[in-house]
Amino acid sequence: MFRLLRYFSLTSGLALLGVGLILVLVYRQTSLDAMVETVERENVGLSRALANAIWPKFSEYIKTGAPEDSKALRNRPESNVIDLLTKKLTAGLNVVKVRLYRLDGLNVYSSDFSEMGRIASRGSVFAESIRDARPASKFETVETITGISGKRTNRRIVESYLPVLGKDGTVEGVFELYSDATDRAEAISQRVTFLSIGLVWAFGLLYWLLFAVVRRADRIIKRQYYDLHQEVSDRLQAESKLLNALKEAEHANTAKSQFLAHMSHELRTPLNSIIGFAEIMAKEIFGKIGNKKYQEYASDIHGSGSYLLNLINEVLDVSKVEAGAMEINESYINLKDAMRECAAMMMEEAKKVDINLNLEMADNLPEFRGDPLRLKQIFLNLLSNAIKFTPAGGTITLEAGLDGSGGIRISVADTGIGISAKDLNRILLPFEQADGPMENSVPGTGLGLALTKSLTELHGGELSLTSDPGAGTTVTLHFPSDRAMTAQHELPLGH
Ligand code: ADP
Repeated sequence: MFRLLRYFSLTSGLALLGVGLILVLVYRQTSLDAMVETVERENVGLSRALANAIWPKFSEYIKTGAPEDSKALRNRPESNVIDLLTKKLTAGLNVVKVRLYRLDGLNVYSSDFSEMGRIASRGSVFAESIRDARPASKFETVETITGISGKRTNRRIVESYLPVLGKDGTVEGVFELYSDATDRAEAISQRVTFLSIGLVWAFGLLYWLLFAVVRRADRIIKRQYYDLHQEVSDRLQAESKLLNALKEAEHANTAKSQFLAHMSHELRTPLNSIIGFAEIMAKEIFGKIGNKKYQEYASDIHGSGSYLLNLINEVLDVSKVEAGAMEINESYINLKDAMRECAAMMMEEAKKVDINLNLEMADNLPEFRGDPLRLKQIFLNLLSNAIKFTPAGGTITLEAGLDGSGGIRISVADTGIGISAKDLNRILLPFEQADGPMENSVPGTGLGLALTKSLTELHGGELSLTSDPGAGTTVTLHFPSDRAMTAQHELPLGH
């Protein structure tokens, strides 16, 4: 897990330390720069005063007359006069040393007489001040310096080179002033120390505040993480339980379907014998039974047996569909003939209960590519339902036609009791029946519609149900155009 607190303490601690250091260093450097600038400005003023005092009398001596030998220079009266003037003008100031250079770098005068006659280094700040004709300074720490007022140790010195400009604006000589800035530098160091202490406190407080906030956030995140972890593992456990239950249910369902398929198959053989023998007896094929009652019983056995066989066949079909084992044997079916045949088979039953059965078929009805037995099973299921749930005097219409995209639309509409909206979806599932007085009085298993829907879907079609309770029901089957075999499809290749 991400260690927020540890990362925060490390990174923010380092960041605050870095920012603090940068602030202190920037403050120290700008203070020192400002201090050097101030001292330089003071030195410029002093150098002007010195030039005003020295130049009128000694400008020629300085520019050309001064000897180059250091001993000779020390002995020249001009050196003493310049020294007197310098000491007078620098009295009480922080200036510890004054040098005066000729343009070629010869030290014509120095408040430390032993230095006179030396040559200034050309690459130094000295050369820079001549070249630019303006003052140039540097700040340094010197261990010992022999100044106007004696020897000093460990000094912070601002060393300024100050060019002296003649009337025509050209540089005629350069003063070098050493100003003792130790006190000012120490004041700056003190301020830097105060600033550092202040920053340590301020940043320390800030760090502590942020640390407290982050520590709290870290605890909340950890708690939420553990809660979430707990919840996820609970859910995973529940999911795996659900999956197991689902597997068990699927397994049980498959076992049920297999059992039903086996049972149905096993039941059909003896049932066929029962139906066959009952029929032989009812028709008295091998001679008179004698008592009329026996003959009636034999007919009843035949009727009940046929009903049972039909039921078993449906159970077997539903089991096959559920196990994915239902197959259809396709061929080209004359749709009109198939519809007529089914209508004729149901006509007698419809007449018995005074129901009008109509057939409406479009002229351009194509051949249907599908399983002829299954297609008839579909029609018979729908027609028998319509007869079962339509009261006497009603009408049933079996209709077929083409839709706009060449698909086939077949519908069975009745003017029966209808189905309430709440039952519409449910009754399409196996063993489901609508609730109502009529459903209880008519025989049925709730398998017919489910099977019809599955058989339609096996042909690539769709079954839809619309109903108006009390006014009637329409079941519509819609098959795609690839099920419709128009005359054109049957033309041999090459036409
Ligand atoms: P069964 O008719 O054997 O009960 P079905 O699956 O064919 O089984 O039908 C399921 C239920 O749907 C029926 O019990 C009935 O409640 C309802 N039903 C089917 N067709 C119609 C119809 N044409 N009119 C009214 N109700 C119908």
